[in-house]
Amino acid sequence: MPHGSILAHVPYNRGMAIDREQVIAALRTVQDPELYKDIVTLNLVKEVVVDCDAVRITLELASAVGQQQIERSVRAALDKINAGNVQLNITARPPSARPGGGQSPAAGPAAPGQGARSVLPQVRTIIAVGAGKGGVGKSTVAVNLAVALQRTGARVGLMDGDIYGPSLPTMLAIKGQAPRVRGNKMLPFQVHGLHVVTIGALVEEDKPLIWRGPMAHGAFKQLLLDNTEWPDLDYLVVDLPPGTGDVPLTLCQLLSITGAVVVATPQQVALDDAIRAVRMFQQLGAPVLGMIENMSYFIDESGREHDIFGRGGTERVAGQLGMPYLGAIPMFTELRVNSDTGRPHANFEGNPKLKDSLEAVATRLAEEVARQNAQAKGPTLTIS
Ligand code: ADP
Repeated sequence: MPHGSILAHVPYNRGMAIDREQVIAALRTVQDPELYKDIVTLNLVKEVVVDCDAVRITLELASAVGQQQIERSVRAALDKINAGNVQLNITARPPSARPGGGQSPAAGPAAPGQGARSVLPQVRTIIAVGAGKGGVGKSTVAVNLAVALQRTGARVGLMDGDIYGPSLPTMLAIKGQAPRVRGNKMLPFQVHGLHVVTIGALVEEDKPLIWRGPMAHGAFKQLLLDNTEWPDLDYLVVDLPPGTGDVPLTLCQLLSITGAVVVATPQQVALDDAIRAVRMFQQLGAPVLGMIENMSYFIDESGREHDIFGRGGTERVAGQLGMPYLGAIPMFTELRVNSDTGRPHANFEGNPKLKDSLEAVATRLAEEVARQNAQAKGPTLTIS
């Protein structure tokens, strides 16, 4: 039995015949206390077996946080449908023993209501870039990681999964351009040596997108899997919307991803949300490749460094979570200007401190990807 497991027998039997669908429907009413989504949607339910009047349920949580509350809620939900003779197994995966990360991939039988995850066979590595909240520089980091990897000679794709606020058209200077189409598939833009797909190219410019969760989920899936002709790629970097909403969930449930990167700024309020984002990826069975501290500090014209937001906070939190820390990117006026004018390559050609910080983070990321791939031996994330 893995570390942190409990085996709880609830030995009462009211003699009512119930079926598996009723049990799953009851489990759908139980929310993860931190992620505010139900435990079936989060893929935490690994087994539901109903045999005559006996019910066996196995839950796999990424951590013991919230375990007792989930157990209480599951019991209450089963009580409501008069489930008798319930055996409830809850396992909490232990945190990675190695400070370098490497959570065990989720494994096990197909979760109720969920199909197998797809793969993009022509893409070797898929990296999701997430953040706990907006404005921390997630898109900026995604773009510059993609460019840094491309500059090493890798074939790199970049997808704007930030369905509600796509930034890539501006950051890559492709605003207003329409993608090329072959048959019923869209061809990625070829820009700055990257293969780029963005929802921003498909919606009316400057119109806000007001989509409900399932629509965002559908659009993301179509863009990523169904309607794009991706070429052979060494890396596909996916810029996710901030927070713990439907799109990250969709990505992790649809696709075998190599892992996620969480971008944070060092203030405590940003870190609190970043921790939630890390927890979400863990719950979804996606390895977290590491955390990046953006806007870590500011370097003035004389070269003096100023800690504006509390430099080092992300490294401390990464250590506490047992996650790799991939490094810091300071605040640079050039980085903001080059983003606004769609010239990411200029970040690697001007200020050497900017170039060095971006390259150092990309190098650490590539190391973590290699480590993750070596550990996974085969498909990087087992479909569950
Ligand atoms: P998010 O994707 O998290 O919402 P963005 O990547 O859109 O955030 O960044 C928000 C703003 O901050 C943009 O104007 C971007 O150019 C700027 N920015 C991001 N990181 C830095 C940095 N390290 N130095 C200076 N400006 C930055």
